[in-house]
Amino acid sequence: VAITTIGHDGDDTLWHSENHFAVTTERLVELLHPWVEEPTGAGPVSTEEMLVSIERRNLALLGYGVKSFTLSMIETAIEASGGRIPASAIEEIMGWGRELLDHPVELLDGVAKTIETLSGRYELVLITKGDLLHQESKIAQSGIEASFDGIEIVSEKDPVTYRRVLGRRSVDPGRFVMVGNSVRSDVLPVLELGAHAVHVPYQVTWALEHHDSTTGVAPSFATLGSISELPSALDEIEARAGS
Ligand SMILES: [Mg+2]
Repeated sequence: VAITTIGHDGDDTLWHSENHFAVTTERLVELLHPWVEEPTGAGPVSTEEMLVSIERRNLALLGYGVKSFTLSMIETAIEASGGRIPASAIEEIMGWGRELLDHPVELLDGVAKTIETLSGRYELVLITKGDLLHQESKIAQSGIEASFDGIEIVSEKDPVTYRRVLGRRSVDPGRFVMVGNSVRSDVLPVLELGAHAVHVPYQVTWALEHHDSTTGVAPSFATLGSISELPSALDEIEARAGS
């Protein structure tokens, strides 16, 4: 069975993203420091933990991306300060949100060359989740948009979504490989459909993308050190699928 179609995640697979969120989270921790008691063993949670739990709580209503992150930071500031946070601090947080949305797109090392190599051999589809407007603007700025045969900006990356995307494009799951930095979003739901997946970890993983351990499960996907190793990893998948 020949592989015909490669799905690529965007954030932290093609371009940097999570590092900017991590820096912004550090700024929030610093901003809220005067209002937050130092967490002790069983004592109050840290600002970071509070932010993650507020993001988790907001996910079903607000979805992924910078705008929901910004609202969750504001909610964290209000909650952590017991409602005492001044409007000037809220304004500062909103400024960080704007900075995140305005940040220039920086491709990861090896992305441009790898995408160029693959674009002649396979149908390439970019499958990303987050704010529609922000994702569209990152794709437009990336300089690699023309190499993709399709772009799918989705609200959630679960088996239902992948099945819908593949069905709409008439791609047999056995001929599809998804590539991404998140085991939870880019690997496991795709394997569930009988498709293939390649994991390319990024230097930081967002808390809400952490997944339950896959130990005990036979590793049925490759993990690469860099996207530059993708063309040969795809050859291996094809050799295995053909045998
Ligand atoms: Mg990603």
